[in-house]
Amino acid sequence: MSNFVWCHGPTCHGQHTQDRIRGVKGSKVLRTRKVAQTYYNQNSFYSKFCSNGCYNAFANKHIQEITAIAPRTEALETPVNVVKEQATNSWNGQTYIETKIIAVDNN
Ligand SMILES: [Zn+2]
Repeated sequence: MSNFVWCHGPTCHGQHTQDRIRGVKGSKVLRTRKVAQTYYNQNSFYSKFCSNGCYNAFANKHIQEITAIAPRTEALETPVNVVKEQATNSWNGQTYIETKIIAVDNN
């Protein structure tokens, strides 16, 4: 594994798993995992973190800095049409009102 980064999880090296054990008897350590850089993870957080747990730990620790990258100061909105239609439950034959949300194509 020549092309890798160390997992960015702040407590990755504290997880008690056998694959993290390094060193010789008497001076063992738990080491941060390596994360292989592959075609399949190149555009995802899996290129920087070994697990969802490490990603969550990083995001929770640095949430203020992360949200400062792209602050959300206003709500976003998606134009839609809302249509109510009568539908029939295939399981028991009863009718009900179904609410359909249909995206509006503004292009
Ligand atoms: Zn990790």
